[in-house]
Amino acid sequence: MQNHDWVTRDLAVLWHPCTQMKDHETLPPIPIKRGQGVWLEDFDGNRYLDAISSWWVNLFGHSHPYINAALKDQLESLEHVILAGFTHEPAVQLAERLTRLAPQGLSRCFYADNGSSAVEVALKMSFHFWRNAGKPEKTRFITLSNSYHGETLGALAVGDVPLYKETYEPLLLKAFTVESPDCYHREPGESWADHSRRKFAEMERTLADHAAEACAVIVEPLVQCAGGMRMYDPVYLKLLREACDRYGVHFIADEIAVGFGRTGTLFACEQAEIRPDFMCLSKGLTGGYLPLSCVLTTEAVYHAFYDEYAKLKAFLHSHSYTGNALACRAALATLDLFERGNTLAANKLLAQTMAESAAGFKHHPHVAEVRQTGMILAIELVKNKATREPYPWQERRGLRAYRHGLARGVLLRPLGNVVYLMPPYVITPDEIRFMAEVTGEAIDIATGD
Ligand code: PMP
Repeated sequence: MQNHDWVTRDLAVLWHPCTQMKDHETLPPIPIKRGQGVWLEDFDGNRYLDAISSWWVNLFGHSHPYINAALKDQLESLEHVILAGFTHEPAVQLAERLTRLAPQGLSRCFYADNGSSAVEVALKMSFHFWRNAGKPEKTRFITLSNSYHGETLGALAVGDVPLYKETYEPLLLKAFTVESPDCYHREPGESWADHSRRKFAEMERTLADHAAEACAVIVEPLVQCAGGMRMYDPVYLKLLREACDRYGVHFIADEIAVGFGRTGTLFACEQAEIRPDFMCLSKGLTGGYLPLSCVLTTEAVYHAFYDEYAKLKAFLHSHSYTGNALACRAALATLDLFERGNTLAANKLLAQTMAESAAGFKHHPHVAEVRQTGMILAIELVKNKATREPYPWQERRGLRAYRHGLARGVLLRPLGNVVYLMPPYVITPDEIRFMAEVTGEAIDIATGD
């Protein structure tokens, strides 16, 4: 079987995620036969460097021998068991390790099975906490403009990317949306920290006006990934923690995309030295192997639900595959790799190489900004560099970059006019330079006439 055969069969039966299927008339999906390290290989023998870690999930490369071995071992004893009324070794060990690694005080782990579900859990838990605490009037959530928290209705409601949200607006909860501290919009000469601090004023006002009806503020710490890899300074998180305490509102940190070393620390919240009330984890949690997510929270939250059954305070939320044994085992193996490889220190050097390789892009006549936080580097393409007028979305400039990347063996998947690099941590300096070289060509092609 070759690419062509799989494409024909695929298009006869599949409906792909986040895709206008008509696009496949001219750009067919790529059938992948195998993955190895940062490389994906199709059925015709073409190779693609996975510069986006397969939607930001992969940390230590595809088909990692250590994670493979752990999964094979796990298969011999237990693949899955209901997590209500039962438990198992990988679920317990993983909860122990995550609560030890997370900011101090996040001592309870509630499992789900994907990122959006974790966000739903955090939203429902926060609302239910206040209800159990005798504050049923707290029903609203506060979010940042340009944020993204997933596609299920609750998660979509607290997100703010119009492309995904607008169509479904009539179905959604109404959140309070505060302007993001996104430093792309800082004044000339203004530092990231100053801009982020200045933007906090609106959050402060919203909390002052709405604390009585607000359950929680939800944020993506440091990087708004799906919103175009827009970045801000940790000081915003510090101020938010302090204000949430002052106003009696929960702090939900959605670390689904930024957790597990992406921003330079194991969790992004560490850079602000804060502990959220809820921390959502998924994606890199299993090293990119299997769907799993969890919400870490505090004993205070846990105890607000702990009572006689008849009081009906329990959190009766579940997903069939909650805490799947294979997925938890993959997560344990992933944490082992972090410890053994001194990953965070190694990533500092890789991030430096990424910075050096992409440094020249800022001089490009259609690049408004090159920004980076840890192992995330983004390049903002604009129609007019002086005014920062963006390319109209209808021109689909990013798609040109995507096509060129594929032709040259690099999987880039720009977000609109933002080309970004977010590779697995096993990438080599030479592979980074290759990825950057192709990215440079892709930028030229995307911004050409
Ligand atoms: N939150 C953030 C910050 C994300 O980036 C994503 C996925 N891109 C999600 C939530 C949703 O996760 P999932 O796709 O697993 O539902």
